Amino acid sequence: MASLTLPHVARPCCVCGSSARDVLHEIRDPERLTGSVNGQVQPVTTAEQIVRCRTCGLQYVHPVIVWPIGSRAHTLDYDLDYFDQTRSSRQVGNTHLLRLVQRLLKKRGSWLDVGAGDGLLVSQAQASGWEALGIDIDAELVAALGLERASPPIQVIHLQDADLDPGSFAVISLVNVLEHVEAPDEMVAACTRLLRAGGLLVIHVPNVGSLGAMLRGASWRHYEPLSHLTFFDRHTLARLLERFGLEPLTLFSLPGSSRLKRSILALSDRLRIHLHDGLGLIARK
Ligand SMILES: [Zn+2]
Repeated sequence: MASLTLPHVARPCCVCGSSARDVLHEIRDPERLTGSVNGQVQPVTTAEQIVRCRTCGLQYVHPVIVWPIGSRAHTLDYDLDYFDQTRSSRQVGNTHLLRLVQRLLKKRGSWLDVGAGDGLLVSQAQASGWEALGIDIDAELVAALGLERASPPIQVIHLQDADLDPGSFAVISLVNVLEHVEAPDEMVAACTRLLRAGGLLVIHVPNVGSLGAMLRGASWRHYEPLSHLTFFDRHTLARLLERFGLEPLTLFSLPGSSRLKRSILALSDRLRIHLHDGLGLIARK
């Protein structure tokens, strides 16, 4: 099938603003360059370069693809399958995260989950005594799961357009969200405005400083240039948050359902060795 060339745009580094960059990887694997365009799964080009910022070392896809309305990197079925298959391991990870936040914040309050997906974290936070709210931009997904009528509901809205009061949230979470957005700096800025003083921003992203990324190079599983646009390590992520006056407090991992993996992650968190594929960071406003 002929490859479809979608429009693309240049963007500067979202951490330091520099446009000086070197090409690090050219992704050629056709499976990673397939999108769902107007309901048809087909090969897509133009977003195959992963570059590294010469100033701060951030890795990102450049140029970045602009999806036509009704098109997406993965089909809805693929995304539904992902949420279904990962549900029990995400549940374990969320329980760990809720405990960690509780230790840092003592008092429960309002929790906004941005990019709420199937709403699992929102419902677990609500069940643990938080006043939880979820938003997501994927109208198809939210409708397919009936989440607008769920309790608590997931609202389909962009963070920047949401009618939320500045300084009103104790916790805002971005779990596996920041790597998907074109301008992570604008998203962090918007979250910072919505947090109350002393509130926590919780971020989890794929970790390009992981052992897997180092060993596998261009074939690292998170180099999916149509849906993952920015690749942070602990240094670039902390630097992005510090740009908005946030104070990084602690790194964390999200354990899955395997007991062995849980023990390894707990040990590596204690030793502050973060070589796992996922990188969590909690920062305070
Ligand atoms: Zn940079």
